[in-house]
Amino acid sequence: MEKPVSSDVVEEAARKALQERGVELKDIAAIVYDMQAKYAPQLTMEDCYDSADAVLGKREIQHAVLVGIELDKLAEEKKLSEPLQSLVDSDEGLFGVDETIAIGSVFGFGSIAVTTFGYLDKEKHGIIKKLDTSKEEVHTFLDDLVASIASSASARLAHRLRDKEEKRDKKKMKEREDEELIG
Ligand code: MG
Repeated sequence: MEKPVSSDVVEEAARKALQERGVELKDIAAIVYDMQAKYAPQLTMEDCYDSADAVLGKREIQHAVLVGIELDKLAEEKKLSEPLQSLVDSDEGLFGVDETIAIGSVFGFGSIAVTTFGYLDKEKHGIIKKLDTSKEEVHTFLDDLVASIASSASARLAHRLRDKEEKRDKKKMKEREDEELIG
C-alpha cells in the first residue's frame, strides 16, 4: 500500500492555494469579526485571525479547499469537460455543488457554523463579495469555501469566548477541541 500523503504537505498546499487565489487569512478574520463583534464587545481582530488559522488546521477544511480551488482553476483554464466546464465557468444558478462541498466542511463546528454559512451565502461579506463579482477569474468554489472557513471560525470563536469568560482551564479546552473535531 502506498504511504499516505503527509498531513503537513496537505495543510501547506491548502494554505498556499488560498493565498495564490488572493485570499489572505486577514480577509477571513475580517468577516469573522463582522459576524461575532455584536455578540462579543471585547472581541479583537487577533482572536478572529487565530480562530480562522485554527480552522485551517483541520483536514476536512483543507480537503474541501483543495478540491474547490482545483476545480475553479481547471475551469479558468477551460480544462473541464462539457457541460461541467460551462456550469462552473458561468457559476450557473442551479449548480450547487460549490455550496455542498463548503457546507459539508462546517458541520464539525456545530449549529452556529451552519447558520452563519447560510447567512454569508446570501449576504456575501467583504472578500466573499469581491470574489463573487470578479469578472476575470473563476471563483465559483472559492467564495463558498471562504464563507465556510469564516463560518466555522465564527462558531469556534463563540464557544471559545464563553470558555474564556467562565475562565475554563486552557489545556482542557484545547484537549476537548482536539477530541470534538475531526482531523
Ligand atoms: Mg459559489
